Amino acid sequence: MGKAQFDQHSGDQMLKTENKKMVDSPKAFDAISIPMGIFFTVFFSVVYYLLIRWREKIRNSTPLHVVNMSEMAAIITFFASCIYLLGFFGMNFVQATPFTETEEEDEVEEETTPCGASVIRESDIVSVKEVMKKEVETVIVATDTVVTEEDEEVIQAVVSGRTPSYSLESKLGDCKRAAFIRRVALERITGKSLEGLPLEGLDYESILGQCCEMPVGYVQIPVGIAGPLLLDGMEFSVPMATTEGCLVASTNRGCKAIYVSGGATSVLLKDGMTRAPVVRFATAKRAADLKFFLEEPLNFGTLASVFNKSSRFGRLQTIRCAIAGKNLYIRFTCSTGDAMGMNMVSKGVQNVLEYLQADFPDMDVIGISGNYCSDKKPAAVNWIEGRGKSVVCEAVIPEEVVKKVLKTDVASLVELNMLKNLTGSAMAGALGGFNAHASNIVSAVYLATGQDPAQNVESSHCITMMEAVNGGKDLHVSVTMPSIEVGTVGGGTQLASQSACLNLLGVKGANRECAGGNARQLAKVVAGSVLAGELSLMSAIAAGQLVKSHMKYNRSSKDVSAKP
Ligand code: ADP
Repeated sequence: MGKAQFDQHSGDQMLKTENKKMVDSPKAFDAISIPMGIFFTVFFSVVYYLLIRWREKIRNSTPLHVVNMSEMAAIITFFASCIYLLGFFGMNFVQATPFTETEEEDEVEEETTPCGASVIRESDIVSVKEVMKKEVETVIVATDTVVTEEDEEVIQAVVSGRTPSYSLESKLGDCKRAAFIRRVALERITGKSLEGLPLEGLDYESILGQCCEMPVGYVQIPVGIAGPLLLDGMEFSVPMATTEGCLVASTNRGCKAIYVSGGATSVLLKDGMTRAPVVRFATAKRAADLKFFLEEPLNFGTLASVFNKSSRFGRLQTIRCAIAGKNLYIRFTCSTGDAMGMNMVSKGVQNVLEYLQADFPDMDVIGISGNYCSDKKPAAVNWIEGRGKSVVCEAVIPEEVVKKVLKTDVASLVELNMLKNLTGSAMAGALGGFNAHASNIVSAVYLATGQDPAQNVESSHCITMMEAVNGGKDLHVSVTMPSIEVGTVGGGTQLASQSACLNLLGVKGANRECAGGNARQLAKVVAGSVLAGELSLMSAIAAGQLVKSHMKYNRSSKDVSAKP
């Protein structure tokens, strides 16, 4: 952002508070620029000359209104001087008086571009700079916080590029102040207000070096509660952070159906985070040599002890290799305790690669991640092999509950599931998308509990099955989710609000009795909530209620057109 642009944009903020006093001030500065000595000499000479002429006319009995050319010139100069004096002292008075002009007058000073952005006149910018230099002790900005003179200096350094925005935390040693200064600087640079994006209420120290760089505030997402979800004999109130109307209400209805049916049951099938580096050799044969070495059961013990040395919790489980020519993709899987585990598995992989370099010096490590892991991308390897926690969750919903709570019938649900979640998704070439809306529930629970929201991609892989049981009367419903990637320590889980949601579920932090117990429980809750969400949405579609309920809960009659 160039300096000129800064000047232009910074004026937008400052004009609101300070520039208003200076509407006509450039004229005042022009007046001052005439040397006062010359002015007073001319003024008093003219007055002196006129008084002498006046005395002579009285002595000679000459009528006063009879004037010659020089007297006429003296009179004109006298009046011009009076007007000048009035103007000069009058402006000083205006400058010293608090500004009282209205918004309409303000608009006259700011021109508007076709896209609505304010263009500040150069004369205003000069005025703003003068005011900043001479008068400003404290300035109120859109954040409703006082900018001290000390802050002002840092803000200007950031705006001008002398201080990099990213260095504010380390320079100031105060994360909240750094966020505030960055925010004000950003407002000035862009000329856009951040009003509405809260600054207060977040512990900026807690995100430093862990959750977010260069913070300027935080986004508010409402958290709703679905439940109780009766799962494996325990009740959970499920926090869901979402802005999609209907979602919590719908999941809540599913929870109710499960509850009155006696609850859902879940089984954790697998628990292992993966990382797959890509290494290259000169020949495919050498790549295959390493593959056989890594997959040889006799070598596993040594490799595991090398892998495990960097963490108390990361324990190597399996190594699976895939070859593409002379490139080898090595998919390491390890348990990670209560952590989601990406850092942990990466450290273990690094240890093994360093160890292998001794026996395979011709191995060229191209990348610690070769996308065969596969993180945050839809991939069949996760769908088939699993990543993170693999969970299956089921419930039997009696006929009366399907009727009374879900307002549909078993046959309709089974048919819809077959044609939509199975056949429809197959027709669409889905990868792990054999469900109605698993990602809705996964994302909402992830946001509420501090999970990595980008991992909703593979975490939402889910196949929903529905079958008529007990002689066709009742509904057996299940969700199978092979890649639920969750943790209860590390990342965003330690932030106050996310931590409170984990606490509500009884899975906050590290499980003291059984490492990984909390993360595994959270994965089961995610699957149970998805089961509830699937039941409810599928029922709404089967009963033809989807559009109706969305019109009720998801459509506001408020005017949402952009405000200028
Ligand atoms: P991730 O591997 O998910 O990115 P982090 O490395 O950020 O997670 O956080 C895991 C950290 O928490 C590690 O330093 C680990 O030693 C520590 N930790 C403490 N208790 C546990 C636990 N029960 N399970 C896993 N990690 C734990």
